[in-house]
Amino acid sequence: LKMETKNSLKKIASILNEGDNIFIFPHIMMDGDALGSSAALCRVLRSFGKRAWILIEDSVPDYLKFLDEDFCTYDDTLIRDPEICIAIDCSDLERLGKRGGIFANGRTSISIDHHATFEAFAHVNCNDSSFASSAEMVYELILEMNGPATAEVAEGLYTGIITDTGNFQYSNTTAMTLRRASALLDWGLDHQRLIVEIYQSMRPERVKLNGRALWEMELFSEGKGAIVSVTRSMLAETGAVMEETEGISEALRNIKGVEISVLLKEWEPKLTRVSLRAKTVGNVAHIARAFGGGGHVKAAGCTLEKSIEESKELLKAAIEEHIKGLTFQ
Ligand code: AMP
Ligand code: MN
Ligand code: MN
Repeated sequence: LKMETKNSLKKIASILNEGDNIFIFPHIMMDGDALGSSAALCRVLRSFGKRAWILIEDSVPDYLKFLDEDFCTYDDTLIRDPEICIAIDCSDLERLGKRGGIFANGRTSISIDHHATFEAFAHVNCNDSSFASSAEMVYELILEMNGPATAEVAEGLYTGIITDTGNFQYSNTTAMTLRRASALLDWGLDHQRLIVEIYQSMRPERVKLNGRALWEMELFSEGKGAIVSVTRSMLAETGAVMEETEGISEALRNIKGVEISVLLKEWEPKLTRVSLRAKTVGNVAHIARAFGGGGHVKAAGCTLEKSIEESKELLKAAIEEHIKGLTFQ
């Protein structure tokens, strides 16, 4: 039995309107879209007098801390018997990490997601990869709910939009994306402040790690592939943490002629997390899926229970193969 994956946001709005105790679930290792969307929705739900919390299990990255105004909690007992559990930006149950069981306890569970690879896991699923970000789906949801159009709500949504579109650079950016972003500025959003928080408040250690890692990048497949590894020893050298590798895969893709870039993160000696990016015709969701991961056509990831060296060989081979099958305009 295949589950319905295209429920309407209108239906989700009416379910949320009826509930009073709500847990929101961003994906593990949250990004700007997962947390920004969750924070905006949490704020709107609370403005209606509901009890709403964002239930998390790993830390909020530094560059997103400004979004968490007492919305995030690790305490799953804050709401004993949640009427509604809503997952945001999660393409499958695994992206909920250890919280899968709590999510399933919701009397009604909902999923809002925009990934190209999606496996329905909630009672009510709304997946639509024509949206560049989950934040845009939540924007439409908030309009359906007649939520408050305030600068504070706009902050979370705008964060999701700009981080998932690479500041409107990526091909997922649509005319609707720009219209929604424009509307959010009309809500009174402090654009300058937001940009400083997200992009211009880096720790020097992070910038050093960027340089240290990129220095060792390798090109392959006649310059169409680019790969870089971040090892535990690089973290020790620079004082950075693994979460501060955000943006390195994009930097590699910026190289002229590179179609697919890969960042390998040595999470543990035998656990490597992989970030893949494609520029024009490549499909990294396809590559990631072959390793049990997933994501979008142009930004995807997977996790290998292998050393960083073994992972590197496997990924390079898979990408080489993929690139061979591409036709470039
Ligand atoms: P990242 O490279 O971590 O920014 O992830 C890029 C995209 O790939 C995101 O949309 C993630 O949802 C997806 N993704 C990353 N890692 C995994 C994984 N291990 N399994 C499934 N999807 C992933
Ligand atoms: Mn995400
Ligand atoms: Mn997203």
